[in-house]
Amino acid sequence: MKTVIRNIHTLVTCDDSDRVLHNTDLVMENGVFASVGEPADSDGADFVLDGSKWIIYPGLINTHHHLYQYFTRNLPEVQGFELFDWLKALYKIWAGLNEDTVRLSSLCGMGELMKYGCTTCMDHHYVFPAGCGDLTGAQFQAADLLGIRMHACRGSMSLSEKDGGLPPDSVVQTVDEILRDSERVIRTYHDSAPNSMHQVLLAPCSPFSVTSDLMRESAKLARSYGVRLHTHLCETKDEERFTLESLGMRPLAYMESVDFIGPDVFYAHGIHFTDEELDVLAQTQTGVSHNPCSNMKLSSGVCRIPDLLERGVPVGLAVDGSASNDASNLLEEIRTAYLLHRLVYGNRAPSGYEILKLATRGSARLLGRERELGQIAAGFCADLFALRTDRMEMVGANLDAPNMLGTVGVHFPADAVFVAGRKTVEGGRLVSVCEEKVFSEADLEVKRLLNR
Ligand code: ZN
Repeated sequence: MKTVIRNIHTLVTCDDSDRVLHNTDLVMENGVFASVGEPADSDGADFVLDGSKWIIYPGLINTHHHLYQYFTRNLPEVQGFELFDWLKALYKIWAGLNEDTVRLSSLCGMGELMKYGCTTCMDHHYVFPAGCGDLTGAQFQAADLLGIRMHACRGSMSLSEKDGGLPPDSVVQTVDEILRDSERVIRTYHDSAPNSMHQVLLAPCSPFSVTSDLMRESAKLARSYGVRLHTHLCETKDEERFTLESLGMRPLAYMESVDFIGPDVFYAHGIHFTDEELDVLAQTQTGVSHNPCSNMKLSSGVCRIPDLLERGVPVGLAVDGSASNDASNLLEEIRTAYLLHRLVYGNRAPSGYEILKLATRGSARLLGRERELGQIAAGFCADLFALRTDRMEMVGANLDAPNMLGTVGVHFPADAVFVAGRKTVEGGRLVSVCEEKVFSEADLEVKRLLNR
């Protein structure tokens, strides 16, 4: 399929030269950008679109989520809790997850993400109650229906309350079960071909819900298949106390001891690192996924983004689970990250444009796809979103398109989204699913889960 967009008002490429082009053309063909900023040849094009009222950005990339939490994101009884108490209250409900819960919550969460400019979603699913079915398959089914690019974690929990962990027995599995299913998920769903729509990561949940042998064996298995590794780390002081008391070391030292560190690893949150630990991240090129809304909601702390960036640590952006964010909206996350770091770091804070690059190029790097995703350049995957410049909300804001998403913020859905050159959002609505039908089915499933 070939789509030509002509006469684009503003094209923010996030390419190696940080080009911002005006009155320019773009061609998408066979899922990639065929030409950028050259007069377009519309011969043989399936679609020729007028871009004269569009600001176009590279598609946003989410690097941490728990889509299944969409259905438990606004329970009044847990709103006042911090991480450990919040988790303990919710584990009981999550023990009722099945394929329908996961498929429908993935549809809702990724549908919302895509409406707000996200074109690649990584999800960290780690709750596999007995007899729950093929939850990873259900997630990829939802992604395919929406047309979004997806990286699914085969997450895991193996350390239950009775062994000193946080989760109850009903949501943990044995190391053997986990490794067997992890291998099945990689073999069945991981596609390492260029421009792939489906990738798999292995992601034991966190130091306080996983045994050391699971961390170590997951790292070995992932490396034997060339897939990436992910876990929560340094999210809260409670976690730090847990590893000091039960393992006798700080969280990062623990990760080093189980070989869960390196350029193929990235951690969610990464808040409570010392200066020396930040140097270790830089030396090993271990990445951090920054989740500002979640960190604020759960009172976890502030990730030291300027310090990470100065040291050259890979950093991407994410929304985190719906139950600790309540929304699945990376535009909101860009705005929040911008404001949070302005508050804490003043002039050392990243600019609006630098935060946009975390959500595009930075996130692509965490997923190991910096030569395919995260910028609008010839040969890269044709993932983008467009905002109309002639909306009332854009008056004055559109003077500085590269910084605008941080400095002003965009609070409406994208006017168009393309993934692999296919239109997935038009006029702020999903193209391939009926949103009302998704609402009806998902709302029923919320009631089943909560009344179980
Ligand atoms: Zn998380």
